[in-house]
Amino acid sequence: MIELASFVSGKWVKGKGKAAELVNPSTEEVVATTSTEGIDLGAALEFARERGGPALRAMTFTQRGEMLRAMSRAIHAKRDELIGLAIANGGNTRGDAKFDIDGAIGTLAAYADLAPELGDTHVLADGDGVQLGRGARLFGQHLYLPRTGVAVHVNAFNFPAWGLAEKAATALLAGMPVVSKPATSTALVAHRIVEILVADAVLPEGALSFVCGAPGDLLDRLDGRDVLAFTGSSITAAKLREGKSVVVRATRINVEADSLNAAVLGPDVEVGSDVMHLFIGDVAREITQKTGQKCTAIRRIYVPKERVGEVVELLRERLSAVKVGNPASEEVTMGPVSTAAQLRDLRDGVKKLESCAKVVFGKTSGVDGIGAPAGKGFFVTPVLLQGDDPKAGDAVHEHEVFGPVATVMPYSSPAEAIALVAAGGGGLVTSVYSDDKDFTRTMVLGIAPFHGRLVLGSSKVAGQALPPGMALPQLVHGGPGRAGGGEELGARRGMTFYMQRTALQGDRAVLEALVGKKS
Ligand code: NAP
Repeated sequence: MIELASFVSGKWVKGKGKAAELVNPSTEEVVATTSTEGIDLGAALEFARERGGPALRAMTFTQRGEMLRAMSRAIHAKRDELIGLAIANGGNTRGDAKFDIDGAIGTLAAYADLAPELGDTHVLADGDGVQLGRGARLFGQHLYLPRTGVAVHVNAFNFPAWGLAEKAATALLAGMPVVSKPATSTALVAHRIVEILVADAVLPEGALSFVCGAPGDLLDRLDGRDVLAFTGSSITAAKLREGKSVVVRATRINVEADSLNAAVLGPDVEVGSDVMHLFIGDVAREITQKTGQKCTAIRRIYVPKERVGEVVELLRERLSAVKVGNPASEEVTMGPVSTAAQLRDLRDGVKKLESCAKVVFGKTSGVDGIGAPAGKGFFVTPVLLQGDDPKAGDAVHEHEVFGPVATVMPYSSPAEAIALVAAGGGGLVTSVYSDDKDFTRTMVLGIAPFHGRLVLGSSKVAGQALPPGMALPQLVHGGPGRAGGGEELGARRGMTFYMQRTALQGDRAVLEALVGKKS
């Protein structure tokens, strides 16, 4: 049995007491255990602040970029081993595992590529300066410097590699040390990544710590210098927002929570067209990839009323080709959900959706996985529902079922489609599929205020479109309302969460020299 440890205060430490179990969701065998009991997390935070912070702040953006490049390469060198762990502990197919692990490698590399643009300097200018007085001398300029505390990252179970790396990339390039806490149930991949980075000594001491298991009093020990970036359910997010550090000491918090992402098919799109093909491909992938356990997965599918029947048929055809089972078997194209609790939530969630829609494909119980021991494993098939009279307030607009589950619904006008998408209460991403520029424009103007990202599918981009479920380092990831109100990534936009913006007033020449500009 593997007993996982935390990497704190520059060393690997195992907790005491009752350990949490990490399970293979295809076989229900325990693959590892972990505990954080008895670990001095206050000392871990102080070590990161006192050792990691100064070491990172002494480095220029260019040097921090080189560090990120080394991290990306170190993970890449162990890619196959990590894929194996993701199959065993996450129930990921090889493709799912690559999506997570290559996402980690790619995001670190993208932030490494950004570094030279920021310069061989320690200061980030925020836009151009402004003349403040009547003469040209008195000037104002905003600049960013790294916050002097520690960045605590609390991650969700579904992306153990990408979640760790995308947050670490932005924080470390900004110049803040990181304490990363993975979700316990799938921590094996994140644990191995930290082992690899520690063994390769690619980071200065204290720049990256790792708390493997329950967070104990970690969050209550944060203060006004620190930041907390959380990814997970809106229920946990609500608890963290009420935490004493956030409420009393103004620890800065960023929340990436759940989201009822939508896909909207334009009235102009006909069966057999490139855009219909793109739409069906995106929806089917988003339902099944990572067994639907993606915060960006499509949950709601809005289709012109007269096309509902055709779309349901096309999706049923795609979903019936999915082979559910233990992803250790090569033929399997969709693995189990990650934990017994996930399976319970998913079954309850589908029942809730049945209050406003009917299941037209799939089931959530009695599913035997290919290559799994009989009666074992947290398996479901993809589940498609159809709701014929969607209204704001329905379960489908209120409840996220975190699994391979989505609902097809009709709309009669662009205004109705906008109102239904908005009824989700704020989301990470919605995709609109149409070659009708007026329809696309109307939709964008109507739904953009409810989203962090919109994907516009059309015949012009059909061959090269990136899936809506893929968060990109160049673009903002996050969304308003129920999605948590946070923002991550988006190149330098993501870094500013880890930096203090300060307005300077003074002599133009002094200010411009500080931010590396010439008068
Ligand atoms: P979760 O149960 O909220 O857990 C998320 C993280 O919070 C885990 O690391 C968990 O640790 C930790 N946690 C739980 N209670 C805590 C507490 N009281 N204090 C401090 N930390 C605490 O969510 P999940 O089941 O892992 O993830 C699924 C959810 O995440 C879905 O709703 C999904 O939509 C959302 N998600 C959002 C995004 C995004 O970018 N917006 C991305 C991925 C997932 P333990 O595991 O140790 O309990």
